[in-house]
Amino acid sequence: MKKTVTALVWVIASGSGHSHDLTALPLGDGKLSQSPKVGWIWACHTDPQAGGAQRAGPWINTAKGTYDATAKPVVPGQVSWPSQFRLSVQQDQRVFSSNDLPSHPTGSFPIPSSSDAYRYDRNPNSIAAQTMQVALPLWPELAAQPTCVPGAIGFLLSGAVLFNALDAPGRDAVAHETQDACQGHPQESGVYHYHNLSNCVADKREPAGHSALVGYLLDGFGIYGPYGEKGQALASKDLDECHGHTHTISWEGKQVTMYHYHATPDFPYTAGCLRGSYKQSDVTTISGPRPQRGMGGPGGRNQPPGMQQQGGGTPQGGGPGGPGGAPPDLNRVAAALGIGVQKLRDAMGPPPPDLQAAATKLGISVDALQSALNAAR
Ligand SMILES: [Zn+2]
Ligand SMILES: [Zn+2]
Repeated sequence: MKKTVTALVWVIASGSGHSHDLTALPLGDGKLSQSPKVGWIWACHTDPQAGGAQRAGPWINTAKGTYDATAKPVVPGQVSWPSQFRLSVQQDQRVFSSNDLPSHPTGSFPIPSSSDAYRYDRNPNSIAAQTMQVALPLWPELAAQPTCVPGAIGFLLSGAVLFNALDAPGRDAVAHETQDACQGHPQESGVYHYHNLSNCVADKREPAGHSALVGYLLDGFGIYGPYGEKGQALASKDLDECHGHTHTISWEGKQVTMYHYHATPDFPYTAGCLRGSYKQSDVTTISGPRPQRGMGGPGGRNQPPGMQQQGGGTPQGGGPGGPGGAPPDLNRVAAALGIGVQKLRDAMGPPPPDLQAAATKLGISVDALQSALNAAR
């Protein structure tokens, strides 16, 4: 299929506020912080060794540090899915259950080899139904301190998952990866996800101009489209370090003054950190199951960018698997090594694990780590 260009508007602007030149959006590469910072992202994990896009596309202007979102190839296709998505209120919780198949059509995945997108991003993954259920606080509260963003950070009202702005090596995923016309694509275990606000999720603006709710993040706070109070077009610099602000919004049918996030057209697009607390198990749930492959398996070149679970920890309390076999129980591994499980997880990083690096971080031998892993399988 011939190259499809994201047409529509070249400049998003409204009566007031910031305008974004979509042909020269700032590239987010390198805007990784270790603490909350406006316009940057504080990610829990990145893996510089992970696979990236095969090559930088011509829409990226490295010298200027910008990219042309209107010139990026779009993954072609128009595939419909049996979306099963439900939001329900159960006492003081909002229960999200979804098969992650979006309510809008997707592109064809794996990316067709005949497409222009394939020249830059050979995402070999297919979209697969998931089983997701998470319960979020109906009335979320700010935590004492913000926290870093995991890989999977929430979901949009299409029923599909929202990941943070980064690909696996920690670059600007929206700039580098190719997505379909709804800004989504699947990762290794088939989880269809976005790295920014999908334009297939309606932003029905409220009468006063503020964007509509477009999803929820894992701390329970809502995320809204790119327009703030009185319809002001927002940029990241208009928001706090975590990409949100507080003012009166309608929430559960009431007018309340409450924190909320906004999506913007500029990096980091959605949350740069999380202001409420979240459960690691929810991250695991919406990150999808660990891909069925052994260490040292298909990785390297064909490893699609951004396809690894970032910061998502590992499913079902398991850990990075070895070649074949069940994943080890990280709690047992940590106990055997006499360290905390979080320290172990941090050292192991996102899958696939680099045992040499992990052992170095932990100050133990690779053999010791390997045998502890094997014993806990
Ligand atoms: Zn707002
Ligand atoms: Zn991705």
